[in-house]
Amino acid sequence: MLRVSGHSERTDVGRQRQANEDSYLARSPLFVVADGMGGAQAGEVASLTAIQAFQGGMPDGNPEVAIERMIATANRNIHEQAHSDPSLAGMGTTITVAAVDSEAERVVIGHVGDSRAYRLRDGIIQRLTKDHSLVEEMRRRGQITEEQAEDHPQRSIITRALGPEPEVQADLQSVDADPGDIFLLCSDGLTTMIGDDRIREILMGATSLDAAARTLVDEANRAGGRDNITVIVFQVEDPSNPIPRGEQPTMVRSGASARAARHQAGPGRGPRRGRVVAGILAALAVLLILAGGLFFATRQAWFLGTDPAGRVALYQGLPYELPFGIDLYRLKYSSAVQTDSLPEQRQRAVTDHTLRSEDDATSLIEDIESSEGLTG
Ligand code: CA
Repeated sequence: MLRVSGHSERTDVGRQRQANEDSYLARSPLFVVADGMGGAQAGEVASLTAIQAFQGGMPDGNPEVAIERMIATANRNIHEQAHSDPSLAGMGTTITVAAVDSEAERVVIGHVGDSRAYRLRDGIIQRLTKDHSLVEEMRRRGQITEEQAEDHPQRSIITRALGPEPEVQADLQSVDADPGDIFLLCSDGLTTMIGDDRIREILMGATSLDAAARTLVDEANRAGGRDNITVIVFQVEDPSNPIPRGEQPTMVRSGASARAARHQAGPGRGPRRGRVVAGILAALAVLLILAGGLFFATRQAWFLGTDPAGRVALYQGLPYELPFGIDLYRLKYSSAVQTDSLPEQRQRAVTDHTLRSEDDATSLIEDIESSEGLTG
């Protein structure tokens, strides 16, 4: 079994638009984001009409079939309205729907257009929907790169929407859900302003789902807020093992590991404090390992280089400098051979700073010296 442990949603006009044409619905376990488009108020009408088709909540029966039907209904309602009212002609909207299927421990997702769904699990964010947009199609055909797609001037042109046609093809899928997973639905006003990595960071760092939703919108505005921004975040839990309320959402580990961890938690120690102490200890351990590794490496590693006089030289340590002029290497020996007098291949062995054992490095420098007729 699985259920929604909490959700938070937020919509914002952004910094540059006069009106908010996005609409959303949160009727847990059903969540919908719609991003309308059209002249005058038509975009608002389209997105609002779309979500109205979901207002009754999830009906019984197969959730995938139900979502597909509700999307078809939304499309038909918008299409008919656009035809009966000239001021609404040509209006359309995206739609992204997510419904938690408790029994099957899955989330059913339906979408049309470029509003997206994401899942954050164990620190990894995954985009669950494929944009129905011109730019995404060009990217999939290999005509443009991922980077070019990100700031393509035509990235807001969508190739599928609710409203323009009497019938619409929605993408439907079921994704598995583990306790602790966080899902995000959003309009493109978020994703054209901030990248997936940043979205992940915000979700990971947020102290609550409310804080996550708020920060996502704030960051999109800070990045320019060129479009309306709508976000819905929700988290799922195992009803027999609920997520402690007031806990930072991403501190909750998913699935079996979370259950195991909770069973092991000792008495008389608050989970948060225990976790902080564990965190500090883990950080100290990592630092010790790093420092130890660095010390070991600076003793064990050798490399050839060129000394300040341009001669082939033997160094102990790592070929790096830390800030504040701290070198991780020491000059152990300078030969009489000028690096730039060596044949090209030999020069490379001296300048590429390959790490070697002491024996290797010593024999290489001896080899160089003997080939230059300096020693025998
Ligand atoms: Ca938009």
